[in-house]
Amino acid sequence: MHSAYMDNNATTRVDPRILETILPYFSTYYGNPSSMHSFGGDVGARLEDARASVQALLGVEHDSEIIFTSCGTESDNTAILSALAIQPGRREIITSVVEHPAILSLCDHLERHEGYKVHYIPVDRLGRISMEAYAAALSERVAVVSMMYANNETGTIFPVETMARMAKAQGVLFHTDAVQAVGKIALNLRESAIDMLSLSGHKLHAPKGVGALYVRRGTRYRPLLRGGHQERGRRAGTENTTGIIALGLAADLAVEHMAYENTMVRALRDRLEAGILAQVPYAFVNGDPEHRLPNTASISFEYIEGEAILMLLSRVGIAASSGSACTSGSLEPSHVLRAMDIPYTAAHGTIRFSLSRETTEADVDWVIAQTPPIIEQLRRLSPYWGANGPILTDNAFAPVYA
Ligand code: PLP
Repeated sequence: MHSAYMDNNATTRVDPRILETILPYFSTYYGNPSSMHSFGGDVGARLEDARASVQALLGVEHDSEIIFTSCGTESDNTAILSALAIQPGRREIITSVVEHPAILSLCDHLERHEGYKVHYIPVDRLGRISMEAYAAALSERVAVVSMMYANNETGTIFPVETMARMAKAQGVLFHTDAVQAVGKIALNLRESAIDMLSLSGHKLHAPKGVGALYVRRGTRYRPLLRGGHQERGRRAGTENTTGIIALGLAADLAVEHMAYENTMVRALRDRLEAGILAQVPYAFVNGDPEHRLPNTASISFEYIEGEAILMLLSRVGIAASSGSACTSGSLEPSHVLRAMDIPYTAAHGTIRFSLSRETTEADVDWVIAQTPPIIEQLRRLSPYWGANGPILTDNAFAPVYA
């Protein structure tokens, strides 16, 4: 049986070229980069190569602007907590309702336990941020704006550059969680108003447990972890040498494959969406049709349950993910889809297929062939579905685009 991994926004496979290159750094060159002896070999130099590679991927001017961390979550937390620490007089934060929990949980904590005011900027049906609400929330009371570059569930890309310029005009620091954007779309921070940016290795074919935070030169900064002098004292803790070297290689490969990602991967994604929608009624694609990651397809199948779809997809070797999370025993649709006002009957049946440069035509064809009968089978069992289609039409949602 064919199998198709369509969950690359959750995590990617480590590129075999990367794996091969880093193995000796576990077994032969395992020394601590801070040690004087030769067991570290050239590992210190390799960390600096990796920094240069990440610098090139992001279009960053100075190598000192890249700090290696343990993950995207650490980068996000560090950025926000640093911005708050250096500006104790500013007690407000701006973010969006559709951020990853790495931002939302922290903001919730800061609001409940530290007395900060958080502005959660809403989005519309296509997941687009309200620029009016954003402009209204900006003021000299705000310490930091944190807006994701691209959404992990729908792939919707926010106009972060415009938003960063608006923040800058008010003297407000701007952070972006670019964990899903880095490696998929070209970035150039040299020409940017963005002050801080988070990325994560495992989303771009490096291993889990390594990330980076970009901090623009001249931006005041307060470390989260204190201890040794690693990362110029900005992130203490012995470096994840293999992870960092892998991230550097992943950055090189991402640069190399950027055009492929935006042409071939996009074409495969579009074919997957079109192939499914052509066969399945009452289904639609979520997200901004114009500004969307090339690899992400969020498809709502109305009147059925996402978890059941995933289970049946998994039986035919297809790995995808649903937008819903199990909260206290009740299946709640994801906060992203709810924020977009997608009706419950559709939000519940939403599946995210996320591709990568490793996705093949055969994978996409397999998904196109296997998904429609699964949807049909589940709808036959659905209490909302009758002999002639949906019974419950009150909530019927006209597709925004096909
Ligand atoms: N931010 C976004 C948008 C993500 O999609 C993720 C991972 O799913 C993260 C942050 C967290 O990254 P990490 O798993 O490296 O902590």
